[in-house]
Amino acid sequence: MNVGVIGTGHVGLPTAATLAHIGHDVSATDADREKIELLRGGAMPFFEPGLEELVRSGLDSGLLRFTPDPPEALRDARVAFLCVGTPPRSSGEANLIAIEQSADLVGRHAAGPTVVVEKSTVPAGTAARVTEILGRHRTDGALSVVCNPEFLREGSAVEDSLRPDRILVGSDSEEALAVMRELYAPLVGEGTEWIETDLHTAELAKHASNAFLALKVSFANALARIAEAAGADVEAITDVMGADPRIGGAHLSAGLGYGGSCFPKDLLAFERLAGRLGYDFPLLREVARINEEALQAAFRKVEQALWNLEGKRVALLGLAFKPGTDDVRYSPALGLADRLLAAGAVVVGYDPEAGANAKAEIPGLEVVDDPYAALSGADAAVVCTEWDEITGLDLAQVREVMARPVVVDGRNVFDPVAMAGHGFTYLPTGRPPVRP
Ligand code: NAD
Repeated sequence: MNVGVIGTGHVGLPTAATLAHIGHDVSATDADREKIELLRGGAMPFFEPGLEELVRSGLDSGLLRFTPDPPEALRDARVAFLCVGTPPRSSGEANLIAIEQSADLVGRHAAGPTVVVEKSTVPAGTAARVTEILGRHRTDGALSVVCNPEFLREGSAVEDSLRPDRILVGSDSEEALAVMRELYAPLVGEGTEWIETDLHTAELAKHASNAFLALKVSFANALARIAEAAGADVEAITDVMGADPRIGGAHLSAGLGYGGSCFPKDLLAFERLAGRLGYDFPLLREVARINEEALQAAFRKVEQALWNLEGKRVALLGLAFKPGTDDVRYSPALGLADRLLAAGAVVVGYDPEAGANAKAEIPGLEVVDDPYAALSGADAAVVCTEWDEITGLDLAQVREVMARPVVVDGRNVFDPVAMAGHGFTYLPTGRPPVRP
């Protein structure tokens, strides 16, 4: 099947490469010409495990092509995917200008019949707008709209795209649904649930899923505050809770809070959408507040350990919002770096992949490419991202190079007994502190 993809970012690129992998003829375009040039040369615009191999095999087979020219990507498309960004406005609402522009591109260039797929995360009601835009160009009914939200996780995007746990397709057109069934047939089977709904339901289901996952993280973080006050261990508490299949342990993790390009913006956009629809949803505002509180709690631990922060050297271990990606959008590590720098600290960061992106975001942050270099002479270290390179650090060497052995563990990766054995002041999250 001929497929056009608009937007070759964290969602569009794995989508395009996966669809080529299962035998479709995919042509992808992006407003960022540099990105297209990179991709044409087989280079990756961002780090995602296994993606380079998947893209290269698509290029080699001839089934995956990148073009800066939207008409070329869209002219023959039986299915056109909109995978553009939907960033937050200052009001919290999703900025949908890229959706509007890309829908317009499809309307202008697709010869049709074409199924136009909202792959980006959009508020309920967006499909009606997209339909309206398409209708400005075509009135023959050749363009129909489908909502097929993406559930991949950065860091395992390839695995999630090749073996999704569910594929959700919302549409009001039986013909469009049939096209989507045919498109995804090679992926549906053992372990992959196929779900069909109407358009509004599919749009809402994506926001609801992300908001609920963010809620689980914030629930664990609120528990962490209580556990700290009570002298209990939040890790044991969430293990007990997670053992109940009605609750589940995934995302029930205390730490620095959620980040990334999805949870923070989707939670807010969902809250704003609910409000616009006449339903006040303060629970979601509370989830966001607890997330802020988690970061502030880590900052306070550093401050309490070091007293005045001016001139103190603080190492941040991990800068990406989670392991397996170089994405620093809404990364808690950068939020912490901002606070520490504002308090006068010297902040040195290490990340196996995200150093350059972090530096571009926060020029005042010193970035090094070796964790021991970051820790050298540090008055305190904060574990921000649970990369293997960080969880596997040699604690004796860490102790030796640090000026003061203070470790704030924002991801609870270290064993308190081992930290005590090495003489650290160890301040985990929601667990009893260890002091020499
Ligand atoms: P991204 O920033 O990585 O990629 C978006 C791409 O769209 C960029 O390459 C940009 O240049 C391109 N673009 C923007 N406007 C354009 C336009 N008018 N015409 C053509 N190209 C344009 O974003 P992303 O992380 O891939 O997210 C895309 C959408 O998918 C968002 O709605 C996001 O919420 C959703 N989503 C993201 C993830 C994730 O883990 N990143 C997961 C599920 C859903």
